[in-house]
Amino acid sequence: MENENRKVLLTIRDLKQYFPVKKTKLREAQRYVRANDGISLDIYAGETLGLVGESGCGKSTFGRTLLQLYPQTEGQVIYHKDGKDIDLKSLSKEKMRVLRKDLQLIFQDPYSSLNPRMTVGQIIGEGLVSHGIFKRGDPAMKDYIFKVMENCGLDTYMFGRYPHQFSGGQRQRIGIARSLALNPAFVVCDEAVSALDVSIQSQILNLLSDLKEQQNLTYLFITHDLSVVKYISDRIGVMYLGNMVELAPTEELFANTLHPYTEALLSAIPVVDENDKRERILLEGDIPSPVNPPSGCKFHTRCRYCQQKCKEEVPQWTNVGNDHYVACHFPLAHKE
Ligand code: SF4
Repeated sequence: MENENRKVLLTIRDLKQYFPVKKTKLREAQRYVRANDGISLDIYAGETLGLVGESGCGKSTFGRTLLQLYPQTEGQVIYHKDGKDIDLKSLSKEKMRVLRKDLQLIFQDPYSSLNPRMTVGQIIGEGLVSHGIFKRGDPAMKDYIFKVMENCGLDTYMFGRYPHQFSGGQRQRIGIARSLALNPAFVVCDEAVSALDVSIQSQILNLLSDLKEQQNLTYLFITHDLSVVKYISDRIGVMYLGNMVELAPTEELFANTLHPYTEALLSAIPVVDENDKRERILLEGDIPSPVNPPSGCKFHTRCRYCQQKCKEEVPQWTNVGNDHYVACHFPLAHKE
């Protein structure tokens, strides 16, 4: 599937992920947490798509739904592989298990995502055996794991060591090695550097960038840190309360911000230039409940440009040119 010479790897259409609320006395409309509430976009092969938004906006759920760790409530996720369009939700558990090698996740917390009773060699080798890439005990597997460890900046003498013998940055390298050993096509990095010191963060970001080039990977990079996402992403999507509100190539998003929520997020990035007198926009109030979201534009309760129409009509997801999408009745370009 081609679009302007870019190959689409994943097509996502009207993706909804509702989780039931346990209390039963609620009205029908309030019986679900609307973690993802109708998201449509394409993810291109070889790109890093950054995804930002406040905690609880549904970005981690979105990433995990793409991997079918949570099968979606509604909508489609189509994986384009070898000329075939594979609807992930329609796959049997066994077929999905086989395909899972292509679709990997790098976890936020390197401390809890590694089995403390397994050595590094066992952690990386486990997936290789379960996906039939090597047979248990195959001497070639050890050589392959050594190669993966070296690519991820881990010395081979660490092969027999346990996770508690490593620093946070090294543990994250083990997590990356475990995922990338399977030679995936698409990797969701869910807050993959958030738990690390700033100096280690940059090492891991550089490692992820290098591995992406070497293995022709596609990343969905989920983070709440706009500085990180600006550094690593080709395009950035901004999520608010279960919806994508803006999506654009990184430079375009920063140069031509259209959504008031994105404007507020970008204004919070620390600046080093003392001549930069950008106004810091403070968002008032908490993010509303995804069980009972506001009518019309979900952001209207916190938007300083809100008008009556915003309270009544849901803004449509619109391509305004330059590969720039926004969902807002009164995008910022019209205010100048
Ligand atoms: S639709 Fe209205 S309330 Fe929503 S972001 Fe745009 S201006 Fe603000």
